[in-house]
Amino acid sequence: MSGFRITKIVCPSCKGSGRSDLFDIKCLWCRGAKRLSVADVDAWSAQVWVIAGGGYIAGDHSLADCRTMEAEANAARHLAGLPELSA
Ligand SMILES: [Zn+2]
Repeated sequence: MSGFRITKIVCPSCKGSGRSDLFDIKCLWCRGAKRLSVADVDAWSAQVWVIAGGGYIAGDHSLADCRTMEAEANAARHLAGLPELSA
């Protein structure tokens, strides 16, 4: 694997569908490209991480959902070769 560097992964926001799961529009992160650059994965995962903890504290979702979102954020970061986020 030496010399091989990941530059893009399957978009973690739309799971590669290219569509938003909230609205009938293109995915807001990859804009329909279905793949996300490492820099965008960094930004996406940081946002998911904040929404995970913030939503739990605000009572929007359970601690289990919070942990699931944090795990999704770190799974994408792992794929992209980014360091894991931690509380
Ligand atoms: Zn997407």
